[in-house]
Amino acid sequence: MHITVIGTGYVGLVVGACLAETGHDVACVDVDAAKIADLQRDVLPIYEPGLEELVRRNRAHGRLAFTTDLPAALTDAEVVFIGVGTPPGSDGSADLSHVLAVAEEIGRHLRRELVIVIKSTVPVGTAARVAEVVAEHARFPFHLCSNPEFLKEGAAVEDFLRPDRVVLGVESDYARSVMAELYAPFVRTGKPILFMDIASAELTKYAANAVLATRITLMNELANLCERVGANVDHVRRGVGSDGRIGPAFLFPGPGYGGSCFPKDVKALVRTGLAVGAPLRVLAAVDEANERQQRVLFEKVRAALAAADVPLEGATVAVWGLAFKPQTDDLRESPALALGDALLAAGARVVAHDPVAMSAAKRRYADRELGDRLRFAPTSYDAAEGADVLVVATDWNEYRHPNLARIRAALARPIVVDGRNLWDPAKLAALGFAYYSIGRVTAR
Ligand code: NAD
Repeated sequence: MHITVIGTGYVGLVVGACLAETGHDVACVDVDAAKIADLQRDVLPIYEPGLEELVRRNRAHGRLAFTTDLPAALTDAEVVFIGVGTPPGSDGSADLSHVLAVAEEIGRHLRRELVIVIKSTVPVGTAARVAEVVAEHARFPFHLCSNPEFLKEGAAVEDFLRPDRVVLGVESDYARSVMAELYAPFVRTGKPILFMDIASAELTKYAANAVLATRITLMNELANLCERVGANVDHVRRGVGSDGRIGPAFLFPGPGYGGSCFPKDVKALVRTGLAVGAPLRVLAAVDEANERQQRVLFEKVRAALAAADVPLEGATVAVWGLAFKPQTDDLRESPALALGDALLAAGARVVAHDPVAMSAAKRRYADRELGDRLRFAPTSYDAAEGADVLVVATDWNEYRHPNLARIRAALARPIVVDGRNLWDPAKLAALGFAYYSIGRVTAR
């Protein structure tokens, strides 16, 4: 099939490359000319394991192309995916301007019967709006389809190639059969394609993120409670997760969820609920609790330094991890940046390390005149050198088993705030660290 994918971000690029991998002819379109120029020479704008190889191979075989020319890319298209961003608007609702702009373009340049697939995460009712906009301009029949994406950054290629399920909201047999054919190679192990109405498909994406964000947030609040009552959240987590009705996934406490999806999708779903008179009170509380949790690392650093009689202003804080989670360079809503911003505002110095997200972080802070108050270290041990406290903000694998004696020697003071519970409190205490983690009693 001839397929066009609009938007070459984390989602669009993965979708385009994976569909090309199954033999389709895919044109990926973006308005960002610099990004497209890079992609045309196999330079990827993002870090995503396995993606570069996929792009390289499919481009070399002529199945994958990148362009800014949407009308040209639509000429032969039988299916078009809309994968542009839907960032939060000022009131928390999803900003649909990119999606609707693309819809108008598609309507204007449609040249044959087309399946229009909304991949972006959009509130219920958006497909209907897109259909209206396309219909205003279109001279050919089209079929709208909602196909929310469930990939996880850091494992996006794997998730797309082997999804747990594919959700397809369709309203015509034509769209149903085209999409079933397109997804057949990805569900060969018996994973389901769940066909449903479009509104249900649109809502399913938000509902899934709402459930996951709620689980994390509940565990974070239970971890905070553990600290107050002298319980250990590791034990509680295992005890809870062993229940077959609950399961062990997504119960790890930490410094609040981040990323480009959970915070914005939770807020957007809360807005939808309010707008239609079906308030999502639990989810509103999740959003609020998470914003508070994003302060937890800063509060722990402040308390740890105070306990050691070190003023926060002027203290040097080593921060391990900047991305909102491992295996990605995505900094959007990262708890590590919330920490960094709070530390800098309080007059501390920050020395940061991240295996892949440092270039993105340098760009984010480029317009702030911070001098040497913010530095990026080439290795994690360099970051620790001479610091008053070390904070683990992202659970990268390479931070799991470091040489603790070397860290002890590098730090000016043996203070660690482990925001991901990577290390063993007893071991750290035995090595002479003051060790603070999440939901476990402080070891000294
Ligand atoms: P992104 O910001 O990484 O990429 C969006 C891309 O769309 C950018 O390259 C931008 O230049 C391009 N774009 C914007 N307007 C355009 C236009 N008019 N024409 C062509 N290109 C245009 O976003 P993302 O993370 O890939 O997310 C895209 C959508 O998928 C969002 O709705 C998001 O909620 C959803 N989603 C994201 C993830 C994820 O893990 N990132 C997972 C599932 C769903």
